This record gives sequence, C-alpha cells and structure tokens, in this order.
Amino acid sequence: RIITRDSHTHKACRPKNFTDYDTIKHEFKFPQISGHFNFAEDVLDKWAEKEKAGGRASNPALWWVDGQRREVQWSFEELGFHSRKLANVFTELCQLRQQDRVFLMLPRIPEWWLVNIACLRTGTVLLPGTCQLTARDILHRLRTSGAKCVVTDEFLAPLVDEVAPQCPALNCKIIVSHSNSRRDGWRNLQDLMSNVSSDHVCVKTPRGDPMSIFFTSGTTGSPKMTQHSQCSFGIGLTVNGKYWLDLTARDVLWNTSDTGWAKTAWSSVYAAWIQGSCVFVHRMPRFDSSTVLETLSKFPITTFCTAPTAYRMLIQEDMSKYSFGSLQHCVCAGEPINPEVMQKWKEATGLHIYEGYGQTETVLIAGTFKGMDIKPGSIGKASPAYDVQIVDDEGTPLSKGTEGNIGIRVKPDKPFSLFTEYTGDPEKTAECYRADFYLTGDRGYMDEDGYLWFVGRADDVILSAGYRIGPFEVENALIEHEAVAESAVVSSPDPIRGEVVKAFIVLKAEYESHDKSQLVADLQTHVKQVTAPYKYPRKIEFVEQLPKTISGKIRRVELRKREWSTKPEAE
Ligand code: ATP
Ligand code: MG
Repeated sequence: RIITRDSHTHKACRPKNFTDYDTIKHEFKFPQISGHFNFAEDVLDKWAEKEKAGGRASNPALWWVDGQRREVQWSFEELGFHSRKLANVFTELCQLRQQDRVFLMLPRIPEWWLVNIACLRTGTVLLPGTCQLTARDILHRLRTSGAKCVVTDEFLAPLVDEVAPQCPALNCKIIVSHSNSRRDGWRNLQDLMSNVSSDHVCVKTPRGDPMSIFFTSGTTGSPKMTQHSQCSFGIGLTVNGKYWLDLTARDVLWNTSDTGWAKTAWSSVYAAWIQGSCVFVHRMPRFDSSTVLETLSKFPITTFCTAPTAYRMLIQEDMSKYSFGSLQHCVCAGEPINPEVMQKWKEATGLHIYEGYGQTETVLIAGTFKGMDIKPGSIGKASPAYDVQIVDDEGTPLSKGTEGNIGIRVKPDKPFSLFTEYTGDPEKTAECYRADFYLTGDRGYMDEDGYLWFVGRADDVILSAGYRIGPFEVENALIEHEAVAESAVVSSPDPIRGEVVKAFIVLKAEYESHDKSQLVADLQTHVKQVTAPYKYPRKIEFVEQLPKTISGKIRRVELRKREWSTKPEAE
C-alpha cells in the first residue's frame, strides 16, 4: 500500500493542534469533570464570556445562509440570548421539566440550533429526527420516546397531527413558521419567544443524565434510538474537534449532514463549539454539487466535512471552475472513502480527505489526523479517547493482521463518551458487549503500525469458495475504472461456490450507451488486474442508482436480500 506523506511544508496542510500520534495517544486527557456538566453553561457561555473580553476571533458562532441572500450571523452572546428565551418558553409556557423529551424535526434553519441549546439549558432530552420521516416513522418515535413536546415546521406539522391522537404524552406542539398563518393546536415559536425574558438560569445537570437520543442511520435495519449522557458528546467530542477537524476559534466549519443524524450533533454542534469555532450552515434542502462547490469558493470556510457519497458526486463536476482559497482541511465519515476519490479531490483542491470512523453510539473511534501519514484505504489510528482492539466473537483480542470485530475496551472503566443504552431495548444494548469490549458490529484488522483497516459490516462480508471478501475492496477497485461512478458489492447465491461477488454498478453518463457485455468483461478484467483476482465480481448488474439511507449510505442489505430471495442462477 502507498503511504501518502502529509506535506508539512504546505501552509494549508500544517496541523494546528496535532503534534504526533504517539504523544497525543499517551498524553491526551479529557478535562476532569465530576458531578455536574452542562454544555450550554460550561462551554457555550464560557465562549460568550471570552468573546466579550475580546479573547476570541471575531467569527460568528453560527453563520447561516440560505443561498438566496438571507443570512444570519450570531455570536456566542447572541446564541445565548435567543436560546435563554427559548429555554423560558419551554419551562414557563410549555411547562416542560428536566428530562422531558423534545422531538425536533426541522430543516437546516437557525432555530434547529436554538432548540438544541434550549434543551441543554432546561435539561430536557432532545430527539432530533430527519425531515424525511413519514407519519408512521413519526408515530414510532413519539410513542417509543414518550415525547412531551414536538418542534417542527408547517410542512411536517400535518404529519404530526395525523398521529398525535395516538401519542397521549404529547402535550405541546410548537411550529416554526415565518408566515403569518397559524395552525390549530400549535403554538408559534416566534410568538412564544416575543413574550418571554432572556434571563434564564441554566439547570444543573448531573454528568450522567440523559442529554439526547439520536437515531442510527438505519443502514442495516430500523434506526435504533441511541441515548447519550450530558458529558458524552459535550466532552467526548473534544478529540473530533481538536484533532480530527483540527479546529481553532478562528476556523469556519461547514458540515453538510442532515439535521436528523448524530453526525450533525458531532460536527455542527459539539466538536466545533468545544473549540469555539464558527459553525457554517447552508440551508440547501437537497444536496447539490454546484451549490456546494460555489459555497466553498465564496465563503471563508476553512474546514469541510461531508459524506463519501457527496465527495463521489463532487468529483464528477468540473472542479477547475472553482477556487478554494480559504479551504484548509477536508474530512469525511459515515462510510468508507475510496482512495480513488481522495486522489481526485487532492488533484482538484490540493487537499487530502481525512477519514473519521465512528458510530451514533460513540464519538470518533478512529481517524486519520492531520499531520499523520495517511495509508489510503485505512481508517487511520484509534482515537486517543478509546482503547480500540480487534477481538473475536467472545471478546478476546486478536493479533495484528488478523481480521475480527472492531471493539472498544469498556472494562474496568466504561468510556463516558459511549452511548448509555438503546432506548427501551435493554436486550439489544446488552448484545453489544462481549467480555471487556463493546463490539461495533464492524469487521476490520489492525496492521503492524497500528493502522486500522475497515473490512465491512459483519453482515456485508462475502464468503466465497473459502475466501472472505470485504465489499469495499472490490468497490475501490471498480471505481478506479473510468466507466464507474459508484458501485455496491454484495454476496449472491451460487450453486457451486455457495456465494459469489456481485457488483451493482452506476455508470458515468458517457458510458451508459456502451455495449454492456463488453463493459462487464472489461470491468472483470480490470478488477483482476488491480486487486487479488479471487475478488473479481462474477456477476455484474448495471443500475441507475443504488439504494441509500437518507444520510446517503449504501444499503447493501437491500441488494443482498434481493439477490437471496431469487433463485440461484447457474453460472
Ligand atoms: P444502523 O446501525 O441503523 O444500521 P448505521 O450503522 O449506518 O445504521 P451510524 O451510526 O450512522 O448508523 O453509522 C455508523 C456505521 O457507519 C459504522 O458502524 C460503520 O459501519 C460505518 N462507518 C462510519 N464511518 C466509517 C468509515 N470511515 N469507514 C467505514 N465505515 C464507516
Ligand atoms: Mg450501526
């Protein structure tokens, strides 16, 4: 494998916070906090004080644009002012009490961030949901969580009304609407905020109390409700902010993820604000490559975070039309990033894509940190917050180079940044633990240098004629072929081999009219040339698009089910 040496001489590449991995691994310590912790009071209000005393760069804390000239810039002090008012709305006008649950479904608008902070100030537990939920999804979330309050917009309110009669705990419905229209049974956020004071005393929250319930992406099944404590993200995401995102108070971070996912909390709330950075938000209702590239060129964004699927789309554009003068650091997380895509991005921007590996259940588990040598295809080294080991199904650590479960040591002390439970599902929670380890459900191995290599989700690994094949290594080989825009590789039944590798391929537009049987042969030859030949896809199907989660992750499970529900084909 090629090791890319990070260019320390290039200004943009010089890390601001990272020295070398071993030093950080041995010296990094989280701040010692016993008793109470509240992110609003202990972090945000401290930045507001610094700001007032002239001790912070003059960046806004939140910078929102809608792409149509509307813009909001709030300092930490202004964030404090508005969120204290909203906290008073929650407690005085809505009678919400500490640990009551608040279900939030809003697109990327500034109020989403205010609700996050108001929940912290009042000790109410936030459940962010994506705006793409159906009435049935909403019902499931409201009932399972017993949410007392919902905050949403005029487009989603009718869906909530459809199911609200079946949710007896729900007694407060707040709508965010900038039009003058009113909706029966709903209270308008603007009206409510105009009637309350901006004085509010943040509640004392014990550090282990529940803070938020996030939904997993639903890549393998129904999204799981994952509960985190007050200090989990609030302190635990220091590693993400400081080392992986390499942020300081001068930086402007743009992370494009949907407000329904923990990833938005990771990057666009906690990791950025722990470091005092500016959180940049584009309203962008739908991912649009040219909007993204224009925004990166136009605004002083220093740090960019998006999903691998988005990078795959961006590199299809003519990137030479844009200049990226402010951009210094790019990261991705949520899925493997193809080395080919990293290479193309580097050619266009001069910057590496640094990878983060983590889950809704955790903070960053491993990553490539700026200043560290990158091994393309590896997810980097373990976060200093965790003791990450490759373990067998009983939780026994395996030797270097051996594939197994990616696990996090939880004994003698469970790391505080690990989720507390899957809400209402103690059995599922217990299933994640084996001996001294939390098992991620992902397979991988660690090489002699301590780099981790992601093989696949346990269910996605293909067993063909005695070989174990991770879908990602085949997908990486395929995307190196000029005809391939993206692909998903799954197992498919085979009468002789049991299962074989099948690739679903989305072609680049200019290859759609090419002769398909010739393309199949070319692609098979190509894979045999660039990786171990036994991995080549014996079956190939061309598709217009791949099934993905709302957050853009490939749902191999869907393709696999389709394959295995049809009769095995003869070769
Ligand atoms: P569900 O648990 O509902 O099936 P999900 O696992 O996709 O969905 P998330 O918590 O959003 O939900 O995603 C975490 C998973 O995403 C990880 O367990 C891993 O499989 C994958 N992942 C995250 N980052 C990376 C990465 N850098 N490389 C490879 N896989 C990654
Ligand atoms: Mg998962």
